[in-house]
Amino acid sequence: MIKWIGLLLWLPSLVWAEAIGSYAAGCQLNARPLPASGPGFYVIRANRERFYGQPPLIDYLQDLGRHVRQAGLPPMLVADIAMERGGPFRSGHRSHQTGLDADIWLRPPPRNPDTRRLERIKAVDMVDHRYYILNAHFRDPQRQLIALAAQDERVSRIFVHPLIKSAMCRAYGEADWLGKLRPWFGHSSHFHVRLHCPPGDNQCEPQAAVPAGTGCGRELASWLNDKAGAIPAGSRPPYRPVLPERCIGWVR
Ligand SMILES: [Zn+2]
Repeated sequence: MIKWIGLLLWLPSLVWAEAIGSYAAGCQLNARPLPASGPGFYVIRANRERFYGQPPLIDYLQDLGRHVRQAGLPPMLVADIAMERGGPFRSGHRSHQTGLDADIWLRPPPRNPDTRRLERIKAVDMVDHRYYILNAHFRDPQRQLIALAAQDERVSRIFVHPLIKSAMCRAYGEADWLGKLRPWFGHSSHFHVRLHCPPGDNQCEPQAAVPAGTGCGRELASWLNDKAGAIPAGSRPPYRPVLPERCIGWVR
């Protein structure tokens, strides 16, 4: 009898996915892996096993892949999502902890995208840092990809390089989704999609809503003027945030 009660208590953990905590201090339960490839996308650097996300994010990425294919764009390259249980990465970005963040590269896929090539693939920078302008790699397919990614209700915000935000403002004028594109240094070869907390995830900490408007005016100008604000090179101490209680022991 006790055994059966135990089983009944354990069963829901098989199906209830959950994002716990904040994007930069949290974990996830019952994450789903994004398949290695599908219509309109490839997962890159799959050997890092950072391709797990909450079901709404996995659905979103697969939907976006289909839209990419329908638009006749080259398949997108999906890089880091989160680890199976979430939590802080040992290296690299601070967020991506709750299975609601995903990085998408801006370069097109290699010609023969086999597993080995997709694991060793190199990023392509879209910014000419010497003259602080976008280079010839940033073209219409890149603009279209970012526009498709932003036009989805599930998206809370997308981090892009300030010069890329500026180019999107020029191309799309007054589109209401432009406000979701948040200028942030370091996003010159990829953009970073962040979804809202899934409905019903009571322990998922949302981020403040993006300010109203397109964000193409004064706010962007301040980023563009601050060219020296790039992330300093060199190693940073490992990021060890205080995790919610439910994540302690789960991710480490
Ligand atoms: Zn990211």
